[in-house]
Amino acid sequence: MTPLADHAAILDQVDRFCRAIPPAEVIRRDAEHVPPYDYIPQLAALGLIGAPVPESVGGLGLPWSLFCVMQERIAYRAQPIASILNRLITFGVLPIVQFGTDAQKQTLIPQLLAGEALVSLALTEPGAGSDARAVATRAERHGNSWRITGRKTWISDADAASHLLTLCRIAGSDAPGDGLAAFLVPRHAPGVSMTVLPKVGNNCMPSYDIGFDGVTVEAADMLGEPGQGFAAITGTLRYSRASLSATVIGSAKAALDLALRHAGERVQFGRPLSAFQVIRHRLVDMRLEIRKAELMVRELARLLDEREPADEQAAMTKIVATEMFQYVTDHGMQILASAGYAAESPMQRYWRDARLYSFGEGANEIQREIVARHMGLGGKPQ
Ligand SMILES: Cc1cc2nc3c(=O)[nH]c(=O)nc-3n(C[C@H](O)[C@H](O)[C@H](O)COP(=O)(O)OP(=O)(O)OC[C@H]3O[C@@H](n4cnc5c(N)ncnc54)[C@H](O)[C@@H]3O)c2cc1C
Repeated sequence: MTPLADHAAILDQVDRFCRAIPPAEVIRRDAEHVPPYDYIPQLAALGLIGAPVPESVGGLGLPWSLFCVMQERIAYRAQPIASILNRLITFGVLPIVQFGTDAQKQTLIPQLLAGEALVSLALTEPGAGSDARAVATRAERHGNSWRITGRKTWISDADAASHLLTLCRIAGSDAPGDGLAAFLVPRHAPGVSMTVLPKVGNNCMPSYDIGFDGVTVEAADMLGEPGQGFAAITGTLRYSRASLSATVIGSAKAALDLALRHAGERVQFGRPLSAFQVIRHRLVDMRLEIRKAELMVRELARLLDEREPADEQAAMTKIVATEMFQYVTDHGMQILASAGYAAESPMQRYWRDARLYSFGEGANEIQREIVARHMGLGGKPQ
């Protein structure tokens, strides 16, 4: 474990990185739909892609409690950069750390940590959203290779990825385990096609519909064993939920600060908005919601650092943090009113972006089912 003085120095470095990102650049990229892939080499050079990754595979082995603060600070300035950092680590590095073969670890993890590879998580299908185990994309064995046929949808970063971590149903009635297998499909394998999906927010995280038309991969491209596919894809979700929650806290704090500034400066009826009790209390309630989410992320990060079971805390934290983000941005929009609705205002971006997270990365209804099971209310594993 690194000493606390080192933690302060690491956070200083993160703050310097954040200060160098011009706010106007964040606004421009959102307006022009420019993803932050060009920042990946810098994230790698600063060691951020390896920050919470075990030292045994080349990471810095920093605690999740520190990494979550780092993510919050990056997101405060530039949410798309914190978001791609989250995906690089939790969709790319960690599944390979947990389920990868020695060969996958030796080749892919150094490339990911160096910012030279990007794994896109290809789970969702037109017929399998929340019911992720219902995937119909088929993997058929042919000797030492597999042929993949099917369709995935809403897959972030797919075109820029080096690999598509793809969940498939194993063809054949005697398929082992859960009948699923996960593959690291090279993005440019023959038979992979994709189209971009237009959407309302998170403009710097492009989404794709992907076709797999008899795509051949080697047995060595499988992540985990046949029949372990679901675990290989979802086994690291508690980490991505911690990182995602920290990210939305950073963005929510930015939204609150914007609302605070506006309420102090905007004068109506001869007084600043912040002099009206209804506005003051709205700002206080926004602060309270953020604080609750912060405490939950802190608790989740502690459990992750102590290697405690954290699935329930991860589900609860994801619910509280993402619903807080919608609450804060909705009230932020109300306080700024027309000034927040203007295209150049960061508030409209926070507000649009926030809408995704209560159903993206595992819908909150499904998270509530996880909590219900932990409460002894029964129900099927999701
Ligand atoms: C911008 C964006 C980026 C995405 N990125 C990725 C990605 O990188 N990789 C990837 O694989 N997927 C990605 N997704 C897909 C995302 O994970 C799914 O949207 C999510 O899992 C929900 O699935 P769905 O949209 O099909 O909704 P559905 O599953 O159809 O659900 C619709 C509604 O019904 C509710 N519901 C469903 N089942 C139940 C139940 N049992 N009990 C109560 N309520 C229920 C849901 O909570 C939701 O409110 C992305 C989606 C978006 C919009």
